[in-house]
Amino acid sequence: MSDTDASLPSSTGSTKVLLVEDEESFVDALTIGLANEGFDVTVARDGTEALTLFEKSKPDLILLDLMLPKLSGIDVCRSIRAHSSVPIIMVTAKGTEIDTVVALEVGADDYVTKPYRLRELVARMRAVLRRSPGTSRGSAPADNDAPEVLSTFEAGEVTVDLDRRRVFVRGDEVHLRRKEFDLLKLLVENAGRVLTRDVLIDRVWGADYIGDTKTLDVHIKRLRSRVELDPAKPGLITTIRGVGYRFDPPSAK
Ligand code: CA
Repeated sequence: MSDTDASLPSSTGSTKVLLVEDEESFVDALTIGLANEGFDVTVARDGTEALTLFEKSKPDLILLDLMLPKLSGIDVCRSIRAHSSVPIIMVTAKGTEIDTVVALEVGADDYVTKPYRLRELVARMRAVLRRSPGTSRGSAPADNDAPEVLSTFEAGEVTVDLDRRRVFVRGDEVHLRRKEFDLLKLLVENAGRVLTRDVLIDRVWGADYIGDTKTLDVHIKRLRSRVELDPAKPGLITTIRGVGYRFDPPSAK
């Protein structure tokens, strides 16, 4: 993907990115780097300007720094999410896991942690754009009854067959209940990333779920008893105390 020839004019119209960043060094590097990757970059230098330029430039994706003058990235994200599902990637500082969690809670699609490499950022951007049905790059399958793409996820010792809803752990099939499967699928799809309790409950039980949040812990416990080598010392599904859970494939350790 780094083979893009920047000298070629884009015939299809390039993807518009709103870069919200107040650090000059990042602005300069990203404006050039992203333009070289074929993106059309607009820069906002504070949170208020971000909201103004969002309305004006109608970007396909927003790259949103967390620490901004006037209005924080969290506030900007919350405000945009109130009326738009444009893909948002939040940029957080190293070692601030809680910021990351808040970013996802207010609706960011993904996050990168400073310092990051341009290649990593661009890969994340393309992934988010691919997942986004609203953009021209969403490449949604035209025919609904053939969702054969990416039907199997493999993360370390766990293989999840999405179409057949079958799960194999270390080669053996394990039988999961419906919600257990949904939960595992979500965790595996987001391997290496923290999913908050709210996000897990929203996605598995629905945003209108009213009930005991202990339900989540009960399902995690059952899931662990089926997929973990030693459920008492989980090596795959990690508890992030007070926050949520993360799937850690062995290869990522
Ligand atoms: Ca900043």
